[in-house]
Amino acid sequence: MGKVNIEENFSLQRIHERCIDCGACLQTCTSLHSLKEEDCVHCGQCILNCPMGALQPKYNYKEVFANLHDEEKIVVVSVAPAVRVAIGDAFGYAPGEFLEETLVGALKTLGFSYVFDVTFGADLTVMEEARELVNRLQENKNLPLFTSCCPSWVLFMENYHLEDIDHLSTCKSPIGMQGAIIKSYFAEMKHLNPQDIVTVTIAPCVSKKTEIQKEKERDNDYVLTTSELILLLREQSMDLKEIEPQKFDSILGRGSGSGLLFGTSGGVTEAVLRTAYYFLNGKKAPENFFHFPSLREKTSFKEAVVDLGVVTIRVAVVFGFHRVKQMYEELKHYHFVEVMACPNGCVGGGGQPVLTKQQQELYVNARRKSLYEKEKDYLKKCSYENEEIETIYKEFLKEPFSEQAKKYLHSSRNCIKMKDSCGR
Ligand code: SF4
Repeated sequence: MGKVNIEENFSLQRIHERCIDCGACLQTCTSLHSLKEEDCVHCGQCILNCPMGALQPKYNYKEVFANLHDEEKIVVVSVAPAVRVAIGDAFGYAPGEFLEETLVGALKTLGFSYVFDVTFGADLTVMEEARELVNRLQENKNLPLFTSCCPSWVLFMENYHLEDIDHLSTCKSPIGMQGAIIKSYFAEMKHLNPQDIVTVTIAPCVSKKTEIQKEKERDNDYVLTTSELILLLREQSMDLKEIEPQKFDSILGRGSGSGLLFGTSGGVTEAVLRTAYYFLNGKKAPENFFHFPSLREKTSFKEAVVDLGVVTIRVAVVFGFHRVKQMYEELKHYHFVEVMACPNGCVGGGGQPVLTKQQQELYVNARRKSLYEKEKDYLKKCSYENEEIETIYKEFLKEPFSEQAKKYLHSSRNCIKMKDSCGR
C-alpha cells in the first residue's frame, strides 16, 4: 500500500501499526488494477482482503452520531439494497438473511428522523437510464450506453478512457438522485429548510464516500458503510435480534423489484430492460424479461441478446476491472454495458462486513440469492409501476429527461477530476 497517499483518499484509511507488509492488498489491487494513487478507484476490495485489519473505510459514523444529537438538524438516512442482506453477518444470522424491517427499526432506534430506501433512488435511475437508452438507440448516438451507478467504474473511465466518457450515462447514481430529491422535493413537501437536513446513506460501498465529494451542492452529506453501521450499533450496545421491525417512511421509502436488484451484478441491466421495453412498446415486457438466466450467472462477464420489440440489442454485464481491461474494446460492440467494480456487484462491496477468504464466496452468493428470492414477492417489478415514482413525476419531475429531471437527476459530467467544470 506504500504508493497510495491514503491520507488524501476519501474512502480508505490505513492503520500503519497493523500492517505486516504481507502484500495481500497489492494482490487484490493488482487483480483490479494497480496501487498507484492516481490508479486507485476506491472500491475498497483491499479492505476485505487484508488479514490484519490494517485497511478500513474512512470512518464518518461518529460525525453522523453527533448530528443525531443536534436538535437543529433533521437527519435523514437511506439504505442501499445490498446492506439488508449483509448486516446480519455481524449478529449471528444466516448468510444472506433479508433484514430490511429490522434494519429500519435499528435506524429509527438510533434516532434518525426519516428512514428511506435507496431502491426508490434506483427506480428513478431506471426511469432516466431507460429513457436515455431509448433516446440513444433512436438517435444511434453514443452507443454502447455505459451504466454510471458504480463510482469506481466512473473513476476507471476518467483515469483510462476519458476519450469515451460520452458513452457513460449522465444519470447520477441512485444515492445521487435520492439525495437531490430529499433536499428539494421532500424538503418542500415537509416545509423544511434543505440546509437543516443532513442526508446519510448506508451503503455496501466505500467508493460512494468519494462520489459524494463531487456534488457541488452536497446533496449527500455522509456515506456510512455496512461495516461502519455495525460499529455504531455495537458502540450503542444494540443487537439486531432485539430490535422491533419497522417500515420505511414515505415518499422515498418504496422501490419496485427492479430497484432491489441493483444490489447485484446484472440487476441494473434487467431493471433497465424492463422499463426500456415499456417505453418503446407502451406495454409491459414479456415474462422472460423478469428473469434472464444468462444475466444471473456468477461469472465476471455475461451477455444477452434482447428483443425489445422494435429493435434487438446486445447487452453485456461485467464486474472487476481485470476483466474490463481484458475486454474493453470488445465491450464497444454492445448496445448497453453494465460495469461494477466489486465481485458480483454491490453484494460483494468493499464496505460489507469483513469475512475470511473461505467465507467470502458462500456469503456473497447467499446475498445474491436472497435479493433474487425476495424480488419474486414484489407485485410491482418494474420501476414505472412504483406508485411513489408515478407521484414524483406527476408532481415534480414531469417526465424522464425533462428539464426538471436533468436539473436534479443528471450530471453534465460524471467526472470527479473535472468537478470544477461539472455544470449541474
Ligand atoms: Fe460500490 Fe457497488 Fe461499485 Fe463496489 S460495485 S464500488 S459496492 S457501487
